[in-house]
Amino acid sequence: MNLNLPRPAARPYVFDSHMHDAEPPILANEGFLLIDRTSHNTTLQLCQLPERLINRTLNRHALHLEQRLGGNERSSVTNTAYGTLSLRLYLSLIVDYLMKGECIIMEILKVNNLSKIYKGAVSYEALSKIQLSVNPGEFVGIMGPSGSGKTTLLNLVSTIDSPTSGEVLINGRNPHTLSADQLAVFRRRELGFVFQSFNLLHTLTVKENILLPLALDGVSLKEMNSRIDQLADKLGITTILDKRTYEISGGQAQRTTIARALIHEPKLVLADEPTGNLDSKAARDVMEIMEKRNQEDGTTMMLVTHDPVAASYCNRVVFIKDGQLYNEIHDGDNRAAFYQKIMNVLSLLGGNADEFQTIRI
Ligand code: ADP
Ligand code: MG
Repeated sequence: MNLNLPRPAARPYVFDSHMHDAEPPILANEGFLLIDRTSHNTTLQLCQLPERLINRTLNRHALHLEQRLGGNERSSVTNTAYGTLSLRLYLSLIVDYLMKGECIIMEILKVNNLSKIYKGAVSYEALSKIQLSVNPGEFVGIMGPSGSGKTTLLNLVSTIDSPTSGEVLINGRNPHTLSADQLAVFRRRELGFVFQSFNLLHTLTVKENILLPLALDGVSLKEMNSRIDQLADKLGITTILDKRTYEISGGQAQRTTIARALIHEPKLVLADEPTGNLDSKAARDVMEIMEKRNQEDGTTMMLVTHDPVAASYCNRVVFIKDGQLYNEIHDGDNRAAFYQKIMNVLSLLGGNADEFQTIRI
């Protein structure tokens, strides 16, 4: 299923759902619609998005609509998915369904007015009123100088720490309202984690480390074996599955943690400086693997990094300065150009320029 879609609009365009009597202002050459559902309002946005993301999002919409429709409607949507109806008609179908109160895409992550004050002898506001949405299938990078609040943000999203005010919604649910037991299950099922320091258990083999989240959830041995065979193949770690973690390289260890983060097909993968301990070749390998899983499986990812090379693999990079959102940029035609755009924002951001150099031994 592949729709040959036009390049996205250069400028985001917002269509207010209250205008449902009017023809949706959507033209094939204007871009694609995204749904940004806030708690009280539904808006449709035509956003500047990379083509591959648009194709994937649209395919998902088609499948989603197919599941909800029957009879003639079903066949017209199926035809749309194969490109026999115009994009305009297809999009108005989606708008129709939205008007009936159905939401086609809900953001995987929604951060509302999030603030964090570390209390101590002197209180310190590490994050101030952060607003952020991540849609299904996005690969978002978070950058900013050291001390700007990147890890704090990730810890609040990953529920490792609690906010002072504001809310985090993951797939529509606020994990900070769950009990400790519910939270443990929520994290294990909905989230995947990749850390700089790998966090692998040294007494276990690579395979056992990867299977840990599934074993805790009582998944059958047959199912576990089938999943690990497929994933190990995709990540190029089939030959090291029976090794202990001290017998493998840093790059292999990070691929192992990525496998562990993906094995249960989480809604959102969170990575904090995953390339921080790797040489530049291994770092690129790891980023290519993350990019591929994002593009081919549509896994939604959020990556905190101070490395502009790593960030250049993302679809969108959000910059933080002094605990506040500073800017955000979207990728374009190629990674080299995106890297340059990232470097330009970093130079405006200030801070210690050396911090963002990717010099590794
Ligand atoms: P980054 O990951 O961008 O380098 P952090 O989120 O780790 O930044 O930290 C943001 C700010 O909050 C820093 O000034 C840091 O010193 C402070 N900070 C982080 N964790 C704590 C903590 N547990 N207690 C007090 N201050 C903290
Ligand atoms: Mg950090």
